[in-house]
Amino acid sequence: MSAWNPVSAQVIAPARSKRTEKLVLLGASGSIGSSTLDILRRNPGQIELIAVSVHSSLPKLADILNAFPSIKYAAITGIQSPETLTDFSRQFGAVKFFSGAHAANELLNAGRAANADTVISAVVGAAGISPTLRAIELGYKIALANKETMVTAGPVIERALADSKDASMVPVDSEHNALFQLLLGLHPSHLKLAILTASGGPFLNRTAEEVKRVRREDVLNHPTWNMGPKITVDSAGLINKGLEIIEAMHLFSIPLEQLDVLIHPVSHVHALVETSDGFRFMANRPSMLFPIAHALYFPEPPPVYSDIVTRPDAWPSLEFRKVDEAQFPGFALCMRAARAGGTGPAIFNAANEIAAGLFLDGLIQFTDIPVLLEMVLSASSIEKGSELGLYLEADARARESTHALSKNLANRIKEVV
Ligand code: NDP
Ligand code: MG
Repeated sequence: MSAWNPVSAQVIAPARSKRTEKLVLLGASGSIGSSTLDILRRNPGQIELIAVSVHSSLPKLADILNAFPSIKYAAITGIQSPETLTDFSRQFGAVKFFSGAHAANELLNAGRAANADTVISAVVGAAGISPTLRAIELGYKIALANKETMVTAGPVIERALADSKDASMVPVDSEHNALFQLLLGLHPSHLKLAILTASGGPFLNRTAEEVKRVRREDVLNHPTWNMGPKITVDSAGLINKGLEIIEAMHLFSIPLEQLDVLIHPVSHVHALVETSDGFRFMANRPSMLFPIAHALYFPEPPPVYSDIVTRPDAWPSLEFRKVDEAQFPGFALCMRAARAGGTGPAIFNAANEIAAGLFLDGLIQFTDIPVLLEMVLSASSIEKGSELGLYLEADARARESTHALSKNLANRIKEVV
């Protein structure tokens, strides 16, 4: 077993981080975006929001621009007609708008020129790769929620961070933020195992037969977290936890053999580290306000949330169990991709983005997701290398392949809906 290497773990560069003063928020209209805005509202005058992006949610963008007059720049990354963009931007004369394929990167350039120091990357999917790399080039502190970027292009992001003089990265994903806090207080030679917890999702106690019949609303009814649709689908099949294991490998340079998952249905403990003398863990109620605030204020202490913090005597019982991979075939496939390395995780992630989208659009069943992922993984060849192009090509090919292979499954949906 190779040991956790404290030198390479410095790629996330905690020593370079500073408390956020001026913020760029990518994915402002989403679930993480809304929680971030909530933190800013709760702590007026502490962090200035100067730039935001949405993909296509123009009504939400209008609400955000009205609520935060400090915003100088806004990006709309999805396709809109020129008339729609002109009509929309006319309502907000003081804001400079960017649109089109490079809008997020242009927003980051403008934000940096206006002294923004931090970007929260809360977009969904591998669309986050390009802005993350741009943010590193520009020397931002990156508060990273967007795990698909690390899963797809982890080696490239790691290298870019290591080569940067100024950029740093603080995890927002709750388990990784907890692990970050635990690892900061641990001598590297003391780490035996880093453990992420998983709630097990809405189907933890259902039989395989019952899971075959679940509907979209059952899948989207997560027991402990309120999140965007794609990550909620990922969580129902434990695929989210597989993606998070790969995310942790890259964020902390921890080898796969030193990472593990425990099912913990109440989602109060987010991560544990096993040391030679026992376990340490980080716990609070399942609320994304904690990790987002931690990432923004790091290395200073986050604000006090006495209204949402609860004491252990008020917690539900803390149960932990091992993952049964036969119950969660998507998780097992993600681990297969992680073990394969190279472009394996990029292929898995791209196939999963398409499969989750097909499920949300009612085109395949929930249990088709791992079937499709297995078909794509088996049909793809994995390559190794460090060039960004290699990962982007693997991502594009896997998307095409998933669409093509999904045609074989599409007819079966009629049995359920
Ligand atoms: P949501 O679906 O709620 O929000 C996604 C955001 O990304 C929206 O602002 C959306 O804009 C924008 N977006 C969608 N597609 C694109 C695209 N192709 N290019 C650029 N922007 C796009 O997602 P979440 O907030 O739930 O999750 C965001 C990320 O954070 C994911 O990677 C997720 O895994 C991770 N994460 C989320 C957690 C949570 O609690 N929600 C917890 C831990 C991690 P629009 O509204 O206009 O479509
Ligand atoms: Mg998480």
